[in-house]
This record gives sequence, C-alpha cells and structure tokens, in this order.
Amino acid sequence: MTDARFSWRNDLENARLNEPLTTEASRDLTSIVGNAWSTDDVDLDQASVDRWPPALRRRHLGLKVPRPTVVIWPTTAQHVSDLFQWSKLHGIALVTRGAGSGVVGGAVPLHGEAVLSTERMNAIVAFDPTSGLVRVEAGVMGGDLETWLNQRDFTLGHYPQSIAISTVGGWVATRASGTFSSGYGNIEDVVRGLEVVVPGGDVLSFAPIPRSATGPNLRELFVGSEGTLGIVTQIDLQVRRLPESRIFDAFVFDTLGQGIEATRALAQSLYPPALVRLYDAAGGKGIIADNDVPNGGCPLILGWDGPSDIVEILREHSARTCLDRGGRAVGPAAATEWFDKRFDVSALERGIERVDGIADTIEIAASWSDAEQVHSAVVEALSPLCDRVSGHFSHVYPTGTSLYVVLFLSADAGDVENQYAEAWRVALEAALDAGASISHHHGIGLMRAGWMPAEPSTEVSILRDLKRLFDPQSLLNPGKLINTTAQHDRPN
Ligand SMILES: Cc1cc2nc3c(=O)[nH]c(=O)nc-3n(C[C@H](O)[C@H](O)[C@H](O)COP(=O)(O)OP(=O)(O)OC[C@H]3O[C@@H](n4cnc5c(N)ncnc54)[C@H](O)[C@@H]3O)c2cc1C
Repeated sequence: MTDARFSWRNDLENARLNEPLTTEASRDLTSIVGNAWSTDDVDLDQASVDRWPPALRRRHLGLKVPRPTVVIWPTTAQHVSDLFQWSKLHGIALVTRGAGSGVVGGAVPLHGEAVLSTERMNAIVAFDPTSGLVRVEAGVMGGDLETWLNQRDFTLGHYPQSIAISTVGGWVATRASGTFSSGYGNIEDVVRGLEVVVPGGDVLSFAPIPRSATGPNLRELFVGSEGTLGIVTQIDLQVRRLPESRIFDAFVFDTLGQGIEATRALAQSLYPPALVRLYDAAGGKGIIADNDVPNGGCPLILGWDGPSDIVEILREHSARTCLDRGGRAVGPAAATEWFDKRFDVSALERGIERVDGIADTIEIAASWSDAEQVHSAVVEALSPLCDRVSGHFSHVYPTGTSLYVVLFLSADAGDVENQYAEAWRVALEAALDAGASISHHHGIGLMRAGWMPAEPSTEVSILRDLKRLFDPQSLLNPGKLINTTAQHDRPN
C-alpha cells in the first residue's frame, strides 16, 4: 500500500492538467462574474503553484506541475455562493487562492480545479477606531492593510515575514503567525469576526463581539481550515494604536540550553517581549556580527512595543533575566540590524530552485519540557540527509514554543524529491516521537495531509466529519488539510 504520508508525491506526478472548459460551464460562469474569469495560459500558469518548494522547483526546472481549468475573480459573497452552485452543476471543484505565498501546497490545484482568486476582493470595508476594529475583504494584502492603518496611527501588529506577499484571508485560512506574536498575538487572537461562504451556498456571519458564552466559538472552525470548509470573504480584525516606541536588544548564549532557559523565563513572565527569537548555533551564524560572538553561540533577539518609559523598564528586566542565565549582552544595534534584514529570503529561494538540491523550512511546536529534546531530535534526524540544518524558536507562550527548522539538501537531480521526502519523514517522525505538533504556523496543505492522523493536538476524525457536513461533495480544496485515504494513525 502507498504510504499516505507521501501521497503528495503521487499527487504531483499524477496531477491532471487542465481540461478545456465546456461551452455550458463558460456560459454559466459569465452569467455569475461577467468576464472576470480566464483560461489564458499566463493566468493558469500563475495560479498553478504557490510557494511550496517541490512545486516551485518543478516549475523552475520545466517539470510537470498541475494546472487549473480556469481562474475566477469573484468580487462579492453572492458571487462565491453562486460559484458553489456552478461548481456542483459542472463537477469542477474550487481551490481558493489568496496571494499564493503558502509553503505547503494548500493553493495548488491538483485535479483540474477552478482557482477562485480573492485578488479583487480587496476593499477595506469599515474602520471603527473607537472599538479598535477594521473590517476587510479577504483579498486585502497584508502590507497594504498595515500601511493604511499606520496612516491612521493604528497597527494590526501582525507582521509575518510574508506580509507584503500574502492576504488577510490567507492568514486566517492558514492560522498564520507574525514576528511580534508574543505582544499582539497570532492571527487567531486578532480575528474578531468573519464572513464565510460554505459549499451549500449559505453566507455565514460571525459578528465581532469581544466575547460571548453562547456555545463553542464556531468562528474558530474556519481559522486554519485552509479553504476546505468554506471561503472566507470578510474579516473583522482587532487593531491597536501605533506604539510610542519600539526598541530591541540582543544577547548571546554559549549553549542552546541556556538560551532556552532564558527564553522560557521571558515567555512565562506577565510582560514578555513582543518579539522573541532564539537561534541555535548553526542558525545564529551571521545573525550577529562575528566580532560580537568570537566563539559562536546562540543569539537571542528581543523587541518591545509600548510607551517609552515602560519598554525601557521591560528591557532592563529582560536583560537581567538573560544575564542571570549565562547570556552576554551584544547591544540593541545587532538586533536592529537583524530586524532590517528580516525579509531577505534570497538564500532560501536560490536553494529551492536548484537542479541538484532543494531547500525548505519546517515549523513545529512543543512544550517547554520537550523543547530542547525536540530540537536535538529533529536536527540529528535531518543532519545525515542535509548539507545544512539550522533552527530557531520564534513564537513563544507561557507553556511552550515554536521551532522553525531550515534545511538545504543536495542529491542527484533525479533523486532530489526522494531525499526531500525522506528528510520530511525523519523530521516529522522525530518531532512526533519527541512530543511536538507537526505544524506551528505554515499549516498542512498537501505536504502534511497524510500526517494529520498522527498529530497529537487534534482529532482528525472530527475534521473529517466536519468536511462531510460542510462539503459532502468535496467541492472545496480536495486533498488538502485532511487526506481521506491516510492510513498512518497516531502511535499508541
Ligand atoms: C518568504 C515567506 C515568508 C513567510 N513567512 C511567514 C510567516 O512569518 N508567518 C506565517 O504564518 N507564514 C509565513 N509564510 C507562509 C504564508 O505567507 C502564509 O501561509 C500566508 O498566510 C498565506 O497567505 P496567502 O494569501 O498567500 O494564501 P495562499 O497561499 O493563497 O493560500 C493558503 C491557503 O489558504 C487558503 N485560502 C486563501 N485565502 C482563503 C480564503 N479567503 N478563504 C478560504 N481559504 C483561503 C488556500 O486555499 C490555501 O489552502 C511565509 C511564506 C513565504 C513564501
């Protein structure tokens, strides 16, 4: 039997290329969205892959990649609702696409689906500065929203590294995290209301009430649902006044264990820094100037937003926490330099597009008691297969942390995908064995769908039931998030 954990490989190899749209399907599409759809090669190509490394690499090398049948640009929830009827009538499933920055294949149309792009649903609908709420359409780009808010002296505080290349709807669908997550929270902490269209055609509305005791919070069902249960059309987000001051600091630890101890102490305090990022020694190379860390070490970058006097006090307090645990102060300039370069992913991009190699990132999460063991297990598992492996802890909580692993591997051209699949296998097995979750913020998509039954933090049978409830005909992003054929169950 094929191992469901690697079904993405067959999916890619056997992906259907687009088939011509029938005259009836074209006519019905025009009656819904006018001429806002296309079967032009350039549009189909553009919607064929996201930033999932094996698909990107395939496209770069001219190898087979899937292609959608049509790309559609709805502008209203009613369009989306009508498109579900169209999808049912013509037997063409829908894949929602934000900006295509997802890195796990969530927006890749594997079976000749129609890609429903949210690109033209890009209005900022309402702003309520008194309540601190902004309502946006799903296709608003993250960077555009932040600039719009900053012009009004507000911020969302959600700064993923991909802020300029991702949409708010994509953030919601993937449960994204931003650099300042321990200050402003992750996306689920700032989403206050949603409008979602479900495959039955209903437009569901969850109003941005601050809290209610009215049964389970059903809005959360769609946060992280990766376009498999419904299409998010509008989002209410909590915004804050721009902070008076943003300051940084940096420390270096001789051992990762010391760094983890300091990071944990900061994360468990009532006032953690908004930005916390601890690198292992391999990841730390080049992060802090060599003359500041003559013997290598593990850099810790910290950042605070808030009133000037308060952030200074917090910085002093954090400095004591770090120094008491073996940290050496290397000064705020090193952290500012890191911050200014944080959008540079050129090395990773070059690593992905090689004939004889590939690069990727794997982000997982674990409790503090397991964090160091998870790091060493995953790095040790990957090292024999990779040229370079490094890690950092960049989203912290009172009870645990994320771990983000960056890997570069080389192999004969025809063997790259085998070795890449093996790298993911050993990394996720090591993570699960050491007690971690298989994803902290990139999500599941195609890459991890076969691993979901082994994930300790959820019950995949309930996800399957929900999928059957909302989308009995599998019209929406089939094969993503949950692989209905997966055989790999949670170990006892
Ligand atoms: C260089 C780089 C840096 C990154 N940094 C971060 C980071 O710091 N933090 C982080 O969390 N992620 C990061 N990512 C991953 C990616 O940016 C996020 O997953 C992002 O949330 C995806 O948004 P998108 O609009 O590009 O969505 P897409 O890639 O278009 O779609 C992602 C998934 O969401 C679904 N989807 C999109 N829009 C909707 C909608 N309106 N309704 C329902 N489903 C929808 C799609 O079907 C797909 O399953 C990074 C990626 C890159 C390439």
